Amino acid sequence: MPEEVKESAEKRRERWMEREAKKADTKAGGRKAELSERAKCDICGKEVEEGEYINIRGKILCAECYEASLENEMADIGAADGTGAG
Ligand SMILES: [Zn+2]
Repeated sequence: MPEEVKESAEKRRERWMEREAKKADTKAGGRKAELSERAKCDICGKEVEEGEYINIRGKILCAECYEASLENEMADIGAADGTGAG
């Protein structure tokens, strides 16, 4: 006969506290991300928002500079498709 496992209130609280602790953790980390939402292009100095720039090896590149860098460092950054007939 299988034993019925009931979670005690104490255990529930324990789990809840664990959850809260994790939440606080991500909150602290999320704050940092919020701060870095805006960045400055390392090459042209243009201010860019999240989604408008790309972080490559710690360098912030705006879309334009990223494209330019792609042409320059094609082999280095991503040589996924070598033959691209445009
Ligand atoms: Zn740029």
